Amino acid sequence: MPELPEVETVRRGLEPALTDRVIARAHARRPDLRVPLPPNFAGRLTGRRVTALRRRAKYILADLDSGETLVIHLGMSGRITIHSDQAKVKPGGFAHKMPEDGSGDGKHDHVLLETEDGTLIVYTDHRRFGLMTLIPTHSWTEDALFNGLGPEPLSDAFTAAHLVAAFKGKKTPIKSALLDQRVVAGLGNIYVCEALFRAHISPKRLAKSLSPERVARLVPVIKKVLEEAVAAGGSSLRDYAHTDGELGYFQHRFRVYDRAGKPCGTKGCKGQIKRIVQAGRSTFYCPSCQK
Ligand SMILES: [Zn+2]
Repeated sequence: MPELPEVETVRRGLEPALTDRVIARAHARRPDLRVPLPPNFAGRLTGRRVTALRRRAKYILADLDSGETLVIHLGMSGRITIHSDQAKVKPGGFAHKMPEDGSGDGKHDHVLLETEDGTLIVYTDHRRFGLMTLIPTHSWTEDALFNGLGPEPLSDAFTAAHLVAAFKGKKTPIKSALLDQRVVAGLGNIYVCEALFRAHISPKRLAKSLSPERVARLVPVIKKVLEEAVAAGGSSLRDYAHTDGELGYFQHRFRVYDRAGKPCGTKGCKGQIKRIVQAGRSTFYCPSCQK
């Protein structure tokens, strides 16, 4: 499942293809993803220039010159591929990945955008947990998708003081507290496990029981874990900077995630990584050095 660094990598990869470009053609091959696409979805995209490409939590936001913003969420398995050779394949056509009758390859390619220079951007999602919608740009923060979100973890608004206040009196395990999007936006299962491991904090500890000093030390660790992953995603983009490809999924080595039974690796710790289930999600941690 794509988390914040993967989504940020998709955004960066899309930027040269979409920012300040006009969407010449848009096509939705089905009426819905997780929820129905908005009325006249393709019509509202066609002919619009993308003025900015932003990210909030795990959403990509493409501001259009119509005053609307295209919101994209990749869900569990959404993928975006760029085909910049589209014009060469078939000028003005969606030939590369789009059999008009919906047959054959590309049957999970649900939304296609073609820019004025012939670049084709394809949204593929075999499980269809993704989301695309259009909202008014001027009031985007008031939209139900965004109005309850906590601060961006990589922004200056995500501070020790904020997290200390958010954890105050919170009787849930810290793992669950950090997954709460009202506390901090965009943090997911993998990077919460990684951050707690590096901060030597047990995922089972109740949020309210963590001293303010330890909360303060956790904040920069969360930022560092995410920054490293965003940087790894950036290097993966450079690998195909001048070619086409699928955006956002890259090789990244985790220290604790999906490493059950392996040695801890923390200096001086002889512990083994353990997997437990919390609130229906896998948690990986070292019971020896995470307290
Ligand atoms: Zn350990």
